Amino acid sequence: MPISRRAVVVICDGMRRDLVSAQRTPRIQELQSRSRWFAAHRSVFPSVTRSSSASIATGCHPARHGLHGNTMALPDGAGYAVHNVGEPEFVERLRAASGRTLCVPTAAERLREQGGAIVLSNVSPGAAYFQDPDGHGHVYHRSGSYGPGRAPLPAREHLTISHDSAGDWAMTERFCDEILLGRRPALALLWLCEPDHTQHDAVLGSPEHLAVMAAADRCVGAVAATVDRLRAAGEDILFVVGSDHGHETIRESVPVERLLFEQGYKRALDSNDIVMAPQGTSALLYFAASANDRVAPVARYLREQPWAGRVLVDAELAQAGMCAERGLRIALSMAKQDVPNAHGIAGLSDIATRFEPTPRKTGMGQHGGFGAYEQAPFLLASGGAFAPGDHTQPTSIVDIAPTVMRHLGHSVAGMDGRPLQDAA
Ligand SMILES: [Zn+2]
Repeated sequence: MPISRRAVVVICDGMRRDLVSAQRTPRIQELQSRSRWFAAHRSVFPSVTRSSSASIATGCHPARHGLHGNTMALPDGAGYAVHNVGEPEFVERLRAASGRTLCVPTAAERLREQGGAIVLSNVSPGAAYFQDPDGHGHVYHRSGSYGPGRAPLPAREHLTISHDSAGDWAMTERFCDEILLGRRPALALLWLCEPDHTQHDAVLGSPEHLAVMAAADRCVGAVAATVDRLRAAGEDILFVVGSDHGHETIRESVPVERLLFEQGYKRALDSNDIVMAPQGTSALLYFAASANDRVAPVARYLREQPWAGRVLVDAELAQAGMCAERGLRIALSMAKQDVPNAHGIAGLSDIATRFEPTPRKTGMGQHGGFGAYEQAPFLLASGGAFAPGDHTQPTSIVDIAPTVMRHLGHSVAGMDGRPLQDAA
């Protein structure tokens, strides 16, 4: 029997809330007019895609789910080595290093008795797979698609799409026809790579940026039309559309790990005693046990630098939903400047690199820290308990999973977030 009460979630990666407008995103704007709009919605820290994907999947901050960012360090002998969480192999690398993937269950796991979730994602493989790293449902990605038990799906079922707005559109068509109209899972989630993918190589507000915002908007419109059709047939669908974070404009790039070596805090450029996992406009610093006495001096040095914004050490990491564990001791959000770029889009930020600056990226989009705009994703919800109107109290991307679970009649125990129906 098809499930009549279900949830449909669409994430437009990197879409800033203040850029959603009738002109740039008419379909999202139309949907907003008949949905609950969360006007003070926030990202987690770091405001990057891969750990945010785990936060959206689990309803927990990184301190609880254990995925630190887009990159994170794992033990390397007596020290640490930085790994790219986006690579398809990282799920198994994390399992090998720690004996598990995420530390808390995903929505897909909580729904395993109903076949888990069906996820279609066009972002990095890591971000896609952390929606369901233990294989309770289905995850479709161009780097490989998996069914229950993380069993690879046959070639004819692969998601062979391009990593751009054309791929987003092809994925959206399949999502509507095969998943929403055909297979009808309790939870279906679509994660578009745009506008984020292009924002990283474009000037915010430029014609190429506006074009991919419009492309993502068209995908949302197609899903909205499909949801309308299913509702007209009597289905009770919770429809959630949002983003994971925003973007800011890169002011300058700072090779922070190299500077720690040059200042004498790190033993060698390639030593594993102190390593930095870059997160765009923020960074995480890991210290080997042998470098414990250098945590406070490094924090002091960072706080004196003009390119540093907030510096959180040990217990202070809790302010950002993180915790000091497995070598992670310092989080650094880079300096911000609230001024507009050439197209009038506000928010400049420095970025942290490991060893070399990246001047060619200056002027393009980035995210990862505590900046006002990178921390301002959008969120709207309709169906179930949600009447149209603005919700002005702060909400977070960790509230998405409990909201879905509440609609589906499942417990939300163990989640950091809360069901937004309670505030509706
Ligand atoms: Zn993202």
